[in-house]
Amino acid sequence: MTRVLVVEDDPQLVRALKINLQARKFEVAEAGDGRAAIRLAADRKPDVILLDLGLPDMDGVDVIKSVRGWSRVPILVLSARHTSEEKIRALDAGADDYVTKPFSMDELLARLRAATRRQEDPASPAGITTDEFTVDLAARKVVRGERTVRLTPTEWHLLELLIAHPGHLVSQRRLLLEVWGPTYAEHTNYLRVYMAQLRRKLEADPSHPRYLITEPGMGYRFEP
Ligand code: CA
Repeated sequence: MTRVLVVEDDPQLVRALKINLQARKFEVAEAGDGRAAIRLAADRKPDVILLDLGLPDMDGVDVIKSVRGWSRVPILVLSARHTSEEKIRALDAGADDYVTKPFSMDELLARLRAATRRQEDPASPAGITTDEFTVDLAARKVVRGERTVRLTPTEWHLLELLIAHPGHLVSQRRLLLEVWGPTYAEHTNYLRVYMAQLRRKLEADPSHPRYLITEPGMGYRFEP
């Protein structure tokens, strides 16, 4: 049974989440504010945390920072549509993914399953194989069909970061910081250029990517 900690101060939403999650055999614990969330995250050791960012006593991002001090538990953020900056702060603080309110229960459950699956089955350090290409991290080699794909060091670094977190949104800021360094944190145009190059090399239809997905304004996701 997957144990989920629901952190949300809207009682109606908590009730709806609880009914749906319990119907799918999740064991649900609930917290209505940040302090209770941190305490329950430590006491109950949930398998995944569903976290609303707008809490009555503290900023949800501070809950993430606090929990990340001692736990790698997947954190899925619930966030209102107009606060994309907040979502980015949440991802940079260590959230694994987000769902925008209002969300469909199906979308939420799919994201929850993806988050817990990643936890059980962390990306193999050896690499990844898709229907289109194979990435061998140890040999630093990408093969598509019969031939080896040549990647520049920058393309390689980007691809490595994305496939290290399959299904997981990696923020623009994080990619820029890790690949180009702190002085380039705002240069999102670099990402657009290099992601387009990667897609041309790896995707069957680069204008409709299947594996290297853009989350507009937020970051990129490798869908295995
Ligand atoms: Ca709220």
